[in-house]
This record gives sequence, C-alpha cells and structure tokens, in this order.
Amino acid sequence: MSTSDTSLKSKVSPTFDVQKVRIDFPILSKTAYDKPLVYFDNAATAQKPVQVIKAIEEYYTNYNANIHRGVHYLSQRASDLYDGTRSVVQKFINAKSENEIIFTKGTTEGINLIAQTFGRQIINEGDEIILTEMEHHANIVPWQLLCEEKKATIKVIPINDKGELELEKLDALISDKTKLISLVHISNSLGTINPVKEIISKAHKHNIPVCVDGAQSVVHEEVDVQDFDCDFFVFSSHKMLGPTGVGVLYGKEKWLDSMPPYQGGGDMIKRVSFDGTTFGESPSKFEAGTPNIAGVIGLRYAVEYYNQLDRSACTNYEKDLLEYATEQISKISSVKIWGEAKEKEAVLSFTVDGVNSLDLGMYLDTQGIAVRTGQHCTEPVMDKFGINGTIRVSFMFYNTKHEIDYLLMNIVEGIKLLGA
Ligand code: PMP
Repeated sequence: MSTSDTSLKSKVSPTFDVQKVRIDFPILSKTAYDKPLVYFDNAATAQKPVQVIKAIEEYYTNYNANIHRGVHYLSQRASDLYDGTRSVVQKFINAKSENEIIFTKGTTEGINLIAQTFGRQIINEGDEIILTEMEHHANIVPWQLLCEEKKATIKVIPINDKGELELEKLDALISDKTKLISLVHISNSLGTINPVKEIISKAHKHNIPVCVDGAQSVVHEEVDVQDFDCDFFVFSSHKMLGPTGVGVLYGKEKWLDSMPPYQGGGDMIKRVSFDGTTFGESPSKFEAGTPNIAGVIGLRYAVEYYNQLDRSACTNYEKDLLEYATEQISKISSVKIWGEAKEKEAVLSFTVDGVNSLDLGMYLDTQGIAVRTGQHCTEPVMDKFGINGTIRVSFMFYNTKHEIDYLLMNIVEGIKLLGA
C-alpha cells in the first residue's frame, strides 16, 4: 500500500495528518505474503508507535530493576517512571485522585477484580446484576461465576435489530434487588456507543453502582470518569497503542477504600506476621507482587502519544473512515451489515450471503489484509441475530480511505471466487 493518499485531504480536519502519524507505526510499512500490510483488526489490538516500542527497549536496556524495593539508582528510576504513570493515566481519564488508578493485566482482570472483591462484598443470595446483551464475554463470565457462588441472578438489557440498547426496558429490569449494573461503553462487535452517562444517572437514582467496560472507548473517545460519574471504569493498554499485559481499573476512592484485596503478596501490605497481616491503601492494596513494569511504562508513552494528538480531529477522522467504508460496502448487494446504531464508532461487522465469513477472511489475508472473523467474544450478540459470526473490520486513526478501497476491491474479488 502506498502511503500517499490524497483522497483523504478534502474532508478531514486540517489538524489531522494521517501520513504524519503513519510514520510513527513501523509495522504499517511491512508486508504480509509480499503484499503491503493493511491492518483492520484494531479492535482486537492496536499497533504500537515507535515511541512506545522504544520506551520498553530503553527500560530493559538502561534501567531494568524491580520497583519500590531498592535504594539504588536503577530501582529509583524504574519506580519513578512506573509511579509517574499513575498520574499520567489519572489525567487521561480525569480521575479525581491517583489512588483511584489500579494497574491490572487488562480489562478482563479489571472486571474479575471488581467481581471478586466489590462484587463478593455487595452481592448476596437473591440479588441481581444487570448486564446488556452486547457484552464481551469478559463482562459476562466473571459475573456468572459470582452469581453462581452467591445464588444471585443476572438480568439483561436487550438490543434491537440495529444493535442499540432497548433502554426503555431498563426501568422494568431495575428492582430493589439490583446491586450493580455493568455495561460496555462501545461494543467491540457492533460498534454501538452506549449512553453510559444517562444509564449511570438513572442507576444512581436507585443507589446502584455502575461499572463501565471502556476497552473500546478510551481508544476512540476522550473519557472523563468524573463527568460520567461511573463507579468503576476498566480498559486495556494494548487496544490503545500500548503493550499487552497491562490494563487500568479506575474505581471511586470510597469503593476502593472499602474493598478487600484481590490477591495477597509483596508490595500490598503494611505489616505481615504469622499472627496476621495489615494491608496497604489503594492502589498498592490491589497490586500484589512485581507488576508489569515495562508494560506500565509503555502504557505511559501510549497515553502521551494520545495527548499530543488532536483527539477530536482523530475521532472525526475515524468516523469519516467508518462512514466511507459503510457507504462503499453497502453497494455490494449480498453484504449484510450487523450493527447499524445511530451512535456508532470504528467497527464494521458484516456477512455476505452465500459466502462463508472465515473463507472470505482467509482470502483477504492472502491479499495482506488483516480482518477478524467469528463471534468476537460476544456470543449472545450472534445468538440474538441468529448468525454464527461476522467479518469485522475495525479502524484506527492510522487507517486510510485508500486502504478501504483496497479492502473493498478484494471483498468483491473474494465474493467472485467463493460465492455459490
Ligand atoms: N471488553 C471489550 C469491549 C473488548 O473489546 C475486550 C477485548 N476484545 C475485552 C473486554 C477484553 O479485553 P482484554 O482481553 O484486553 O482483557
């Protein structure tokens, strides 16, 4: 794929220069099977800018040491960078205090942590948790495990045929047994943007805390947890340009202070003796053992990368890509798009009549195009629509319309080759 893409220049905000950002992502100029790589699997994981890659290399090359434990130069330097990341992340999502930022392995671990600490504290026999039909498995299974243990029940806000929440049904789902609502901000399989602020405000009128799965939203939107007034917000570094194995759990301090630890070990205690142990405060209370130091430092550089971008120009640019791709793919009569919410971002899921999605995905792969096929860890969404999977094209601000044209051309070729 050539990096010269003039078709973008007319519609896009002059403050956003896609060619300038593409240079920061070395993988985008690689090839797959001798074809220029076109990466449309961003909802699974994003590519990394050179700033993040170098930060990790620099940590291991120049100041690798364990943190919080050494008086020596290396340990202090590593500790400063690790600890400093907390305030960088705090500002990124506008949390009130650094103590509200817990580093985890990712979104999945964040939700499991909440379920196993906060959830175990507040959920009792007969209680209810409300989820939505469009949740990722990471926001279903941890609650099922908890409900099984506590003999509690899960209730589900259904989605309509466009993939939007049927919010008019929420009132009827809330009862005096509802102890928590946990929902996704942006769906990874449909792209739907949920009105989390409105839902949180309604839940709080009933004193119900709300956990938001922000795995797909911090990537594309500026998030303000104080404005949302959410009780918990979780996300993964790897989907937002950072390394794998790191994530963030934001929790209101009042909850974190009252929650028991998730895991026990070093770095999370005040004092240990065989007669008993006292625990540190948040965040150390929730970060037992040696953390992913290089990963957290990498996350810091990912956030700083976002900070130097014009976020709203980026979001507009991504919306423009989605709109363009949707318009173009809709011209193919055998294509059915899944997820047509009014508020939607960065994800285009579709099937083709008479063509197996996996076969088409494999054909696109031979042309150097990375898309995802399958259920995208949202099996209930597939059940709702009576399908066994989709092809998902997911965008990032470094994609171009030229890449979309190349994708479309190859979808047409693939259909010719594979169609009945
Ligand atoms: N929630 C959503 C909406 C996601 O897209 C994902 C990742 N596909 C997850 C949760 C789980 O994230 P991770 O695997 O990074 O823990």
